[in-house]
Amino acid sequence: MKIHEYQGKDVLKKYGVTVPRSIPAFTVDEAVAAAEKLGGKVWVVKAQIHAGGRGKGGGVKVAKSLDEVRQKATEILGMQLVTHQTSPAGQKVRRLLIEEGADIRKELYLGMVTDRATQRVALMASSEGGMDIEEVAEHTPEKIHKIFVEPATGLTDADADAVATKIGVPDASLPQARAIFQALYKAYWDTDAALAEINPLILTGDGRVIALDAKLNFDSNALYRHPDMVALRDLDEEDPAEIEASKYDLAYISLDGDIGCLVNGAGLAMATMDTIKLFGGEPANFLDVGGGATTEKVTEAFKIMLKNPELKAILVNIFGGIMKCDTIAEGVIAASRALQLKVPLVVRMKGTNEELGRKMLADSGLPIISAANMTEAGEKVVAAARGG
Ligand code: ADP
Ligand code: MG
Repeated sequence: MKIHEYQGKDVLKKYGVTVPRSIPAFTVDEAVAAAEKLGGKVWVVKAQIHAGGRGKGGGVKVAKSLDEVRQKATEILGMQLVTHQTSPAGQKVRRLLIEEGADIRKELYLGMVTDRATQRVALMASSEGGMDIEEVAEHTPEKIHKIFVEPATGLTDADADAVATKIGVPDASLPQARAIFQALYKAYWDTDAALAEINPLILTGDGRVIALDAKLNFDSNALYRHPDMVALRDLDEEDPAEIEASKYDLAYISLDGDIGCLVNGAGLAMATMDTIKLFGGEPANFLDVGGGATTEKVTEAFKIMLKNPELKAILVNIFGGIMKCDTIAEGVIAASRALQLKVPLVVRMKGTNEELGRKMLADSGLPIISAANMTEAGEKVVAAARGG
């Protein structure tokens, strides 16, 4: 789960990370009032969406008067902000953050992720902050410094100082940088984060170290123990199909292709997407209906897939273990009738009661294309999506 920059800064501030003074705003008037309240001469009007790269996309603007704050807020609020992390259509800006302007001498990068290989939190830091860290990693990987934090000790002073020095933090600013590194690690650990990023972490003209941006993603599997983080969820920023699917306990992820897949089991769902690609098609989604899919669940799954205007064909791929093939056949038939399915539907079923399930599909009178194995399923659904 992702949260907004202003929420991330609130969380990090509680752990002792230094952040600029700022106030979130939901309307242009609130933005101007926020700037007035903050005082000073320079403000930054920042779009709040769940994607990075806002600066380059025109979602972060400096204002040098209250009139300019009003003007920039009017421009940004409601815009479709397109960044390298959004879809090509962009994301609508519904919230702003009004922040005091910082005196930036140097922009640094600080990030943390969970490293599966070492089973530790990997800290990454670079002198090349402000820009895409992916680009730094590709072109100048030697400028990214990594440490894998020993969980028993946490991030030690010595390790924090060594990394801070490598990325160009001057000696006089080391205690502040160390405090921020350790606070970020503590926040990451306590909140079950999956990603924590401060980009840029800045050095100011007078030698202070400040987090100018904050990104926190949380491990969804651990959210049950963080109701305070769940409260920060912003459904406007999430894919409507995925929200709808989660209501029915369906594991659904929207993708860019045109072939919908309905599968039981995450592994089989991955293999199904691979098969579609092997035959030259592109999956429109990942969908695992789970072990105990009912007719209602299958119907909802079809409804969610059919809302996608790109959808050209559907592949149902079921392994009947705990779930019997005739139960799935019943669900598929009921859903096809209820929704008056217009796109071609290919079904491959294997396992318990497969003959019965196939007979039910054949007897239903519906134009369902049956496939005997994965190869046939892949070939037939790709052909169907191409109108063949
Ligand atoms: P994003 O990463 O989505 O582009 P950031 O919050 O990192 O958004 O802002 C982009 C850039 O805008 C920063 O790298 C920094 O140069 C500038 N910036 C952001 N906030 C401030 C601020 N409070 N004062 C001065 N400059 C800022
Ligand atoms: Mg940033």
